[in-house]
Amino acid sequence: MIYILLAILGLVFGSFYLVVATRLPKEESLVVSRSHCDNCKHILKWYELIPVISYLMQKGKCRKCGARISILAPLIEIITAVSFCLPYYLYSFDYRFYALLILLSLTIIIFISDFKFYIINDEPLFISIIAILVLKYIYFGIKPTGMAALAGIVMFTVFLCVKLFGDKAFKKESLGGGDIKLAILFGVTLGVKLGLFAFILSAFIALPYAVIASMKSKEDIVPYGPFLILSLVLVFIFMTKCSELINYLFAI
Ligand SMILES: [Zn+2]
Repeated sequence: MIYILLAILGLVFGSFYLVVATRLPKEESLVVSRSHCDNCKHILKWYELIPVISYLMQKGKCRKCGARISILAPLIEIITAVSFCLPYYLYSFDYRFYALLILLSLTIIIFISDFKFYIINDEPLFISIIAILVLKYIYFGIKPTGMAALAGIVMFTVFLCVKLFGDKAFKKESLGGGDIKLAILFGVTLGVKLGLFAFILSAFIALPYAVIASMKSKEDIVPYGPFLILSLVLVFIFMTKCSELINYLFAI
């Protein structure tokens, strides 16, 4: 029963995340402009906006002009539904449930906006950072919250130094502004030690993609945000294992 409820919530939030991730980079309003067909500008009615179901009913086509609707929307909705069920499956309802829910939501938004527009928007990122801090305060009190905020500042400084050094060394932008702001979330959720571990891990995850992308096209812009947030989520889920690994490595 809870899974069905979470999945439905996920479907609804999924279509909202898609709107956030595609409209914010273009500076379109989230509320004012109604959802419409990109081809014929036909304003969608409420029954054309039901996640997944509308898509299936219309066989992936606009009701008015017959233009194909991108598969992205139902796909994102289903992925979000799964992302809403996973934290409950792993943790039931505790701090980690809410934290992972926030992280996965941000992951979905960053994957769309960074791969599509090379942008990580401030709004979803800072809402996530504040939400995690509020959660920490509710569950653990003021001291751990202060430590988490401090870790966020430390990680931000580390990323900034890496960027300044990288820009000089490669003579081009190494880390984007969005990536550096994302570092705050690394510190806030993981602390400095695990945050640094996640940062290094992200480079390993991104490497195969970067190699393939540079072979395929002459453009050498590789969005790094998706790999950063993916690495953050992985280290969050496998936090105990990662801590053990770090302790083991330091013991050698
Ligand atoms: Zn149309």
